[in-house]
Amino acid sequence: MKASSLLHRPIYGGVFGKGRYSLASLPCVLGGLHAVRYMVIDPRAGAVLSMADEKTQALVRARRHLEAVPAAPQQDWLWPPEEVPLSRSAKRVSRRRREVFDRSGGRCHYCTAPLELDGRWHVEHMIPKSLLGDDLPLNLVAACVRCNLSKGARTALEFVMGGGA
Ligand SMILES: [Zn+2]
Repeated sequence: MKASSLLHRPIYGGVFGKGRYSLASLPCVLGGLHAVRYMVIDPRAGAVLSMADEKTQALVRARRHLEAVPAAPQQDWLWPPEEVPLSRSAKRVSRRRREVFDRSGGRCHYCTAPLELDGRWHVEHMIPKSLLGDDLPLNLVAACVRCNLSKGARTALEFVMGGGA
């Protein structure tokens, strides 16, 4: 499916700003049934802010995601590249991973598979570093290993439009 066939309309007001973000619906097959998934996207950045089976849930998640971003840059925004931890000890979960985990609601940003905080999941750049994506919180989401590896260097929007993992 091409991005141009995605049905989306700008969202006005509130934390979503003056139409910068769009609410998009994406037909898909879930458990053998045709369904629609909703997502809030930033078309200019090619980023997917949230994804859910319900419209309101997609909006709530996107709002939480946006509100979690601090107003001013801080030194600790510049994090080193994240490794998948080998230890399952919760003590070894870094503050960044915790923040990304909480903001993603404990689920994979793309396929919504539940993740364990101290389990194997990736801190994922929605806009990849190879496309000059940054390490700011807004660009970071939790992704399961399968989605992270199959997304590769695509932007989050390209990945979702390509059918995901
Ligand atoms: Zn996933």
